[in-house]
Amino acid sequence: MAVDSAISSPLGPPACEKDAKALRFIEEMTRNADPVQERVLSDILTQNSQTEYLRRFKLNGASDRDSFKSKLPVITYEDLQPEIQRIANGDRSAILSAHPISEFLTSSGTSAGERKLMPTIKEELDRRQLLYSLLMPVMNLYVPGLDKGKGLYFLFVKSETRTPGGLLARPVLTSYYKSEHFKTRPYDPYNVYTSPNEAILCPDSFQSMYTQMLRGLQDRHQVLRVGAVFASGLLRAIRFLQLNWRQLSQDIETGTLNQKVTDPSLRECMGKILKPDPELARFVRHECSKESWEGIITRIWPNTKYLDVIVTGAMAQYIPTLDYYSGGLPKACTMYASSECYFGLNLNPMCKPSEVSYTIMPNMAYFEFLPHDPNSAGFTRDSPPKLVDLVDVEIGKEYELVITTYAGLCRYRVGDILRVTGFHNSAPQFHFVRRKNVLLSIDSDKTDEAELQKAVENASRLLREFNTSVVEYTSYADTKTIPGHYVIYWELLVKDAANSPTDDVLKQCCLAMEESMNSVYRQGRVADNSIGPLEIRVVRNGTFEELMDYAISRGASINQYKVPRCVNFTPIMELLDSRVVSTHFNPALPHWTPERRR
Ligand code: AMP
Repeated sequence: MAVDSAISSPLGPPACEKDAKALRFIEEMTRNADPVQERVLSDILTQNSQTEYLRRFKLNGASDRDSFKSKLPVITYEDLQPEIQRIANGDRSAILSAHPISEFLTSSGTSAGERKLMPTIKEELDRRQLLYSLLMPVMNLYVPGLDKGKGLYFLFVKSETRTPGGLLARPVLTSYYKSEHFKTRPYDPYNVYTSPNEAILCPDSFQSMYTQMLRGLQDRHQVLRVGAVFASGLLRAIRFLQLNWRQLSQDIETGTLNQKVTDPSLRECMGKILKPDPELARFVRHECSKESWEGIITRIWPNTKYLDVIVTGAMAQYIPTLDYYSGGLPKACTMYASSECYFGLNLNPMCKPSEVSYTIMPNMAYFEFLPHDPNSAGFTRDSPPKLVDLVDVEIGKEYELVITTYAGLCRYRVGDILRVTGFHNSAPQFHFVRRKNVLLSIDSDKTDEAELQKAVENASRLLREFNTSVVEYTSYADTKTIPGHYVIYWELLVKDAANSPTDDVLKQCCLAMEESMNSVYRQGRVADNSIGPLEIRVVRNGTFEELMDYAISRGASINQYKVPRCVNFTPIMELLDSRVVSTHFNPALPHWTPERRR
């Protein structure tokens, strides 16, 4: 029930005192977006005034916007590479941040094939936690009664490594789930998960998923929301259920735990919870053995009010499949965040996916916006970019996000393109348009054009001894399979038909391409099983010319026509697929280990 109107919020009546406080905080931050931003910048510059980085640019202790903007360059990860390498190698001096770098967060964005390393400091955990603490108070405005049940969330940790200098390097969510902030979080009736911490923290993805699914099935009537971080993660869980429901039902029937779950802490914790439940086992078998899995989520978890998964950006490709499995349940995209910094939240989380806008919280970092002109060649030393402050962005315009963080990233280009859709008080709200330079993405992998080109080059070397070359290629992220996979269309020039490459050779080409992909892709293939084997579809000679004819018939200029290196427009896909002469997969896994290659 809503609390009394004395503490009501412009966002709506809060569900409880705690929510009222959180909503007041959002109001305060968004009303005072500009002064908050000014304070954040001044805090960061004061805190880091003696760092090597700020001294290099002769800030001389200044903490005002004008000095900052006139002296500090706008940079990318590559510009910071030397500093990051020194920190990774063990240099503990104040290079970027006055506070010690506590660990590296490994981004799904890559540089030279390896995850980017984002330095972070301890206090950033508090900032991330603060943003998390705002999500349920907002959700409670739209969905009442979430304190009467549980959330079935599929959450996972990934492997971690140490840099040569001994710092931990791991994904931001792994860092968060392993923190005391998460592990010893106080009980909150609005945030009760079916998954025990032991299951979330189990590094083996099968054992972790198995027990999380088992717990979800046990609590099926209490589950009010089902989620994962990204849409691809939730679909992976559904696929897991398809593959494992027999064993899961068996465990439920007998009250015992699959021997494949060997982790002692998991066995101990599940041992206390598992009781024989033949009726539930019968139900699971009955539902899962039906031929159609349409609406399976609401059949098994009938009280689910919404799916909590990100379906914006690259994840939008999964909306139809999620709708199929959930009977069109609302899909809530609650927050927008990255390894570099957590940015903000969706103040209207039950809106349609196409209408999702994220409100950047001005207390998280200092935000600037680089007007995005898709036709411009970029900026040079002579024509430096004009960055716009958070409160000065204009509705309808697109910008690239640039951040300055407490951990020491200064005017750092994140690579996300955002469009302003409106304002909440004086804080702008953004539609996530896309990430720059990403051609293909299935899960958290992001493959750019250069990486794809390199992969095709490497693989096509195997064709030389068959006097065959790849004359043209394009690609497509096929998400109709679970997990999704990359499809690469090849048009080949076979000079000696009697010695043309066999299926075996083309299978080797599939693997050679995968070996050339960045480590996030290979980890998805090997450790997370979140990406299926890459497929090569060989198309008939002349197909790419037909593709060009089609583009020209639709108005493309013949002089400027370039083969698209990624396609997703249905008529083009249909044209390509109708010209396929052979398809090739290689189930073998590419090489991947948690260790970085350099
Ligand atoms: P990572 O550095 O691996 O944590 O990835 C962060 C990136 O994921 C962001 O810079 C975005 O490109 C993308 N991302 C994060 N949250 C969202 C969201 N809510 N919608 C779309 N893309 C997102």
